[in-house]
Amino acid sequence: MSSTLDLMRYFTVKELVPEAIYLRRGEAAIELIDRRIVISAEDLRRNLIGIGYDHPITINNWCWGGNRQYSGFRPPESPDYSETSQHTRGCALDGVSQIPIKVIHKHILENPDLYPHIRFIEIDIGWLHIDCRDNANGVPLRCWSPQRGFVSVETYFKEL
Ligand SMILES: [Zn+2]
Repeated sequence: MSSTLDLMRYFTVKELVPEAIYLRRGEAAIELIDRRIVISAEDLRRNLIGIGYDHPITINNWCWGGNRQYSGFRPPESPDYSETSQHTRGCALDGVSQIPIKVIHKHILENPDLYPHIRFIEIDIGWLHIDCRDNANGVPLRCWSPQRGFVSVETYFKEL
């Protein structure tokens, strides 16, 4: 079996873990991130380029002097830590991009077969949150809004 590192083309380990963890563990810090969400992010970036959106999706940017370091794996030191967040178990990624978030959402919802591991999308927020949780009700993909709660994929798709 190959390492998750072998399939990473667009993202680096530094972009997925906080600085302190990377400094301690180096590339082995990939072990804190679920392979399924890495595959999802890599596929998403490649496919967006394929449809003409050749813009980066920024997860952590601490390695370039930026202030984002808890957008992938999120330890208790993070101000946004929650013990039940998918970030805590390395199953979620938050990204920002010049690509409008709704364009990314529409692409994912139009192509569920390309993203079998994206099981949860947070909507009505200013960034992309995807995670690979197993939804308790067995639904392959759920959309959730901090304001509206769960919104059906069909309903949300009509808004895009
Ligand atoms: Zn998130």
